[in-house]
Amino acid sequence: MIRTNYHTHTSRCGHAIGTDEDYVTAAIANGLTVLGFSDHAAYPEPHQGERMNFSQVPEYMQSIRSLAEQYKDKIHIYLGMEVEYYPDQWSVLSKYRREMDYCILGQHNISYEKDSSYDIETAEDLNRYIDAIEESCRRNLADYVCHPDVALFSYPVLDEGVRKAAERLAKISIHYNIPMELNCGTGVIRGLHQYKDSVRYAYPTRIFFEEFAKYQAPVIIGLDVHDPKNFYTDTYLNRALSVVEGLDIHFLDNYDLPSAAKKRKELFVSE
Ligand SMILES: [Zn+2]
Ligand SMILES: [Zn+2]
Repeated sequence: MIRTNYHTHTSRCGHAIGTDEDYVTAAIANGLTVLGFSDHAAYPEPHQGERMNFSQVPEYMQSIRSLAEQYKDKIHIYLGMEVEYYPDQWSVLSKYRREMDYCILGQHNISYEKDSSYDIETAEDLNRYIDAIEESCRRNLADYVCHPDVALFSYPVLDEGVRKAAERLAKISIHYNIPMELNCGTGVIRGLHQYKDSVRYAYPTRIFFEEFAKYQAPVIIGLDVHDPKNFYTDTYLNRALSVVEGLDIHFLDNYDLPSAAKKRKELFVSE
């Protein structure tokens, strides 16, 4: 059972349900001692069904901060944001970097509003996706990489190009000391899927974690919760763990992400 989860959404994003407090009480009921909220970052333009509106950010912050205070004797609650590396949104990202306890990187598009990571089908685009992650790490934008293999969502064949991409990511993880996430969200919730070469979850994907294991890149488990009920089940956690079964993964247990974030924030440059 998981005690620490830094990947939690709220209904503000438009594709999660429940109140903020529902997530807190469900987490406590299931033995979590650390709960980090990391809803999808808002950008100036509205993205309905994907992320909260920019105007909702202060209320999000206030709500999580007040729950942290209210439940401080029962659970440690932290305020975070799941951001993308978008260089043309740097001033917004800088604000989140300053104001949040931590940020996690979920590179859902390669660039702002363009090139969905869910549509990648070539090694060239996969490398562009990893370029964005590498830049984020170099610029200290975020404290761990969510679903690093989300770029394999549509990837038809897990060929050598994929392994090379995974190896590149493993080296980035080691070089910048950035944990990679074993994600227990959509990829495993939607179940197994037939690809050209195999039946697999969209993500996590074993080939990525083989390389992470080989290089002993640090790996953190993220529940990526969009429904408080998911704290009551180990089904999706177990599915994600089944993908990496038998691999010598360097798992970070009860990782103190906020402390790591504090140090990384000191290196972050706003401009
Ligand atoms: Zn989401
Ligand atoms: Zn997420």
